[in-house]
Amino acid sequence: MKASEIRSKWLSFFESKRHHIEPSASLVPHNDPSLLWINAGMAPLKPYFDGRVIPDNPRITNSQKCIRTNDIENVGKTRRHHTFFEMLGNFSIGDYFKEEVITWAWEFLTSKEWIGFDPDRLSVTVYPEDEEAYKYWNEKIGLPAERIYKLDENFWDIGEGPCGPCTEIFYDRGDKYGDLNDPECWPGGENERFLEVWNLVFSQFNHNKDGSYTPLPNKNIDTGAGLERFASILQDVDSNFDTDLFIPIIERTCEIAGVKYHVNDEHDVALKVIADHIRTVAFAVGDGVMPSNEGRGYIIRRLLRRAVRYGKTIGIDRPFLYELTSVVGEIMGVYYPEVVDKREFIERVIRTEEERFHETLSEGLVMLSDLVAAARKAGTTEIGGEDAFRLYDTYGFPFDLTEDFASENGMTVDREGFDSAMEAQRERARAARQDTGGMNVQGGPLADFTVKSEFVGYNELVTEAQITA
Ligand code: ATP
Ligand code: MG
Ligand code: MG
Ligand code: MG
Repeated sequence: MKASEIRSKWLSFFESKRHHIEPSASLVPHNDPSLLWINAGMAPLKPYFDGRVIPDNPRITNSQKCIRTNDIENVGKTRRHHTFFEMLGNFSIGDYFKEEVITWAWEFLTSKEWIGFDPDRLSVTVYPEDEEAYKYWNEKIGLPAERIYKLDENFWDIGEGPCGPCTEIFYDRGDKYGDLNDPECWPGGENERFLEVWNLVFSQFNHNKDGSYTPLPNKNIDTGAGLERFASILQDVDSNFDTDLFIPIIERTCEIAGVKYHVNDEHDVALKVIADHIRTVAFAVGDGVMPSNEGRGYIIRRLLRRAVRYGKTIGIDRPFLYELTSVVGEIMGVYYPEVVDKREFIERVIRTEEERFHETLSEGLVMLSDLVAAARKAGTTEIGGEDAFRLYDTYGFPFDLTEDFASENGMTVDREGFDSAMEAQRERARAARQDTGGMNVQGGPLADFTVKSEFVGYNELVTEAQITA
C-alpha cells in the first residue's frame, strides 16, 4: 500500500466517523510562542483544546507535517525516527472519549477494508491506574492480558494544565527484529521489534498549581500515528527509509554520489540522514523559514550543513541537496502542493545556502591551517579545545573533521577542552531557556515527556545545541 493511500484511508476512515478533515497547518506555529515547530498533530489545534475557540465540529482528523529536532540523533540509526514526519491524528474536543477512540483505532488497524494488520501482531501499553482503558482493550476488543503492558510513563503531563493517561499501540515485526525473551524487545524497550505506531492520549485531568489533579469537565482525545511507520509495515520493508516516501530521494542521492544503497552501513546512514534532512529543509523553506543564524532559521541552516557533511562522506563535494527538492515534490505533492508550487524558490534558497557553506568550509580549513601552523611554532602538537570549538561554532566544523585534519598534520585536538566549551554553551542555552519560560505545550501525543527530565527539542536554544552532533 502506497503511503499516499494510507494517508487517504486514514482521513476517509475518520470522515466516515463524522470527523472534519483539517488540512495540515504550516510547520511554523501560529500565535504560539511556546513552540518552535509544529511537533504533533495536535499542536495547531491547541486553541480548540484549551477552549479559546469552539470548533464547528468537535471531531477533527488530519495529516500534519511535523518537525522534531530532538530526534536528530536517532535519524539513520533507528528504523523509525525522522526530523520531519507526518503525524496522522484524530481528535475529540469534549465529544467522544476512551471507548470510541479505542474501538475505532482497532477497527482502522485490523479491518481488511482499512489497514488490515494481523490482530495477533498488535500489543498495547496502558497507564497502570487506567483501569478503563485496560478494560476496553481486554474486554471489549478481546486483547489478551499478556499483550497489555502497564507502563508508568504512559501519562502525559507537563506540569500545570490539562493532562492524562495515554495508551499506545505497537506492531510486532517478528523474530527477525529481536528475541521475544529480551525485555528490551517488549513495548517501551529500546529494541524496535515492537514498533510504536499510535498514541492515544486521554486528556481528562487538570494538573493544579498545588500539585493536585482534578477531573476536567470537558475531556478531550488527542491521538497521533506515524504515517512513515505504517508504510514500513504495510510495504514490509526494513525501515521507514525503505518506503516509497524515501526511496526515490535515496536513489537520486545514490546516482549523484555514485554509491549503492544497502551495501555499506556507513553510506546507508549518510543516505538516510540526507533523505531525512532534505525533507525537513525543503518543507521548512516552503513554509517561509530562511536559513539564518537564529531560531528556526538556524536549525534549518544546521540541518542543511549536516546533510552537506554527510554528503561529503559519500563523496559529494558540490551543491546537490537542491536537486533533491523536485524528488521531494514528486513524492509529497499530492497532499502538500506547496513543495511543488514553491519548488523554484526552495531550490534557490537551498542552493545558495549550500554554496555559501562550501565557501565557509574552505574558510574553516584556512583557519585550521593557521592553527596548525601556530601550534607548530609554539612547539606543541595539540590544537586547543577552545579553538576547535570556535571552528565548530563559527564554521560548522564538527570535532572529528578538525581531528582528522589535525592528525593528517601529526597533531591531536584537546577533546576535553572542546567538550567543556560545548558544555559552557549548553549551560548558556539552558539559562536562556529558563528565562524564556513559555514551555506550556498543551496536549499532544507526547508521552515520553514525563520520562525525560528535559523537554529538549521544544526550545530553540537547546535544540541548537542538540543539533550540532
Ligand atoms: P518514539 O517512542 O518511537 O520516539 P514517541 O513516543 O516519541 O515515539 P509520540 O510523541 O507518542 O511519539 O508521537 C505519536 C506518534 O508519532 C508515534 O507513535 C509515532 O508513530 C510518530 N512519531 C513520533 N516521533 C516520530 C519521529 N521522530 N519520526 C517519525 N514518526 C514519529
Ligand atoms: Mg509515544
Ligand atoms: Mg514512545
Ligand atoms: Mg520519541
